[in-house]
Amino acid sequence: MRIIVQKFGGTSVATPGARELVIKHALNRKNEGYQIVVVVSAMGRMGDPYATDTLLSLLSGRKVEAREKDLLISCGEIISAAVIASLFQDKGYRAKAFTGFQAGIITDENFGNAKILDVKPDNIIKALEEGIIPVVAGFQGVTGERDITTLGRGGSDTTAVALGAALKAECVEIFTDVEGIMTADPKIVSNAKMLDEVNYREVTEMAYNGAKVIHPRAVELAMHYNIPLRIRSTFSDAQGTLIRLVPERVVTGIAHATHIAQLKIKVPSNDKELESRIFEKLAKKGISIDMINIFPDVKIFTLAEDAVSTAAEVLKDLGVSYEITKNLAKVTVVGGGMTGIPGVMLSIIEALKKENIDILQTSDSHTTISCLIKEEDVKKAVLALHEKFEL
Ligand code: ADP
Ligand code: MG
Repeated sequence: MRIIVQKFGGTSVATPGARELVIKHALNRKNEGYQIVVVVSAMGRMGDPYATDTLLSLLSGRKVEAREKDLLISCGEIISAAVIASLFQDKGYRAKAFTGFQAGIITDENFGNAKILDVKPDNIIKALEEGIIPVVAGFQGVTGERDITTLGRGGSDTTAVALGAALKAECVEIFTDVEGIMTADPKIVSNAKMLDEVNYREVTEMAYNGAKVIHPRAVELAMHYNIPLRIRSTFSDAQGTLIRLVPERVVTGIAHATHIAQLKIKVPSNDKELESRIFEKLAKKGISIDMINIFPDVKIFTLAEDAVSTAAEVLKDLGVSYEITKNLAKVTVVGGGMTGIPGVMLSIIEALKKENIDILQTSDSHTTISCLIKEEDVKKAVLALHEKFEL
């Protein structure tokens, strides 16, 4: 069996017109001789009746357990899967909608951000063998206790790749509302360039650093199983970006993330125990931290803005003094080939200085350099860096 998994995001299933294009793309591959597995997101964005954020707003302000929250927001993809299956059926094709549970997506119990532990695709294989097009609800799975979980924002991408790996698919195609992976978010840089081919590692870094065009775990999974991943538009026939093992560039793209806060904590330099207690308590509350700089008497790191109040509670309980700065953003220069190339940091500093943008903190890895800046500067910063590196 030659299998292709095709995943369609929120805007790709939002309107009757878009949903017709979903069917068209699937049938195109089917006519080429592939067996197709379709994975769908919930329909549309906040305000659309069955979008994830709309469902979430039903709970607004109320205390609710993560388990029930997941059960509620998993409905959006189920609705989408049933509707898409109905469109195939209406055109005379045999199709079957599956929940994540029915498709055998087994996860851990980390509600809201569950990790896929195993895929048991027997229902999907059976459907394919019978010539039926499976349409799977993305973003969701089931625990060993048969509780429904969700995989975090962008998680449908991961559903698609996990299924692709389990089915030994030839390729996983992620259909979205842009032509492919660009050198920066096209919503900010209007002349951002499409990348025809890009390495898994670089896309993973772009995604972890805020480029929401693909979920980072999906790319890691595809790299692990060596499955080519194609990002392309539902609204055109262009082939988009192919993610596979290709040589890396010094600078491939600029990613950005917003709604970040910086925390500075003062700890007496002789109190090692307090230091570990702070990090332990933050971790226990599920707060993920980034850009970590530890000095003898001050610990500096960033966190998501919506985690600030929880973090503040923890620090108050511990009786430490701290300072929080909100409304920050992170811009990241990504390039798998930047290791050992001198002058990348210098170019970043020059580009941001020219625009009068203060760098509040930096962090780096073999393939990235990130700068923390004020959120109001983020557009200017992305544009300046994009231009500086001649992307
Ligand atoms: P979907 O609902 O199809 O999953 P997303 O909104 O999750 O779509 O992802 C697509 C969006 O990702 C685009 O509309 C674009 O604004 C954004 N994006 C951010 N960075 C990039 C990038 N480097 N290349 C392409 N798109 C990007
Ligand atoms: Mg997405």
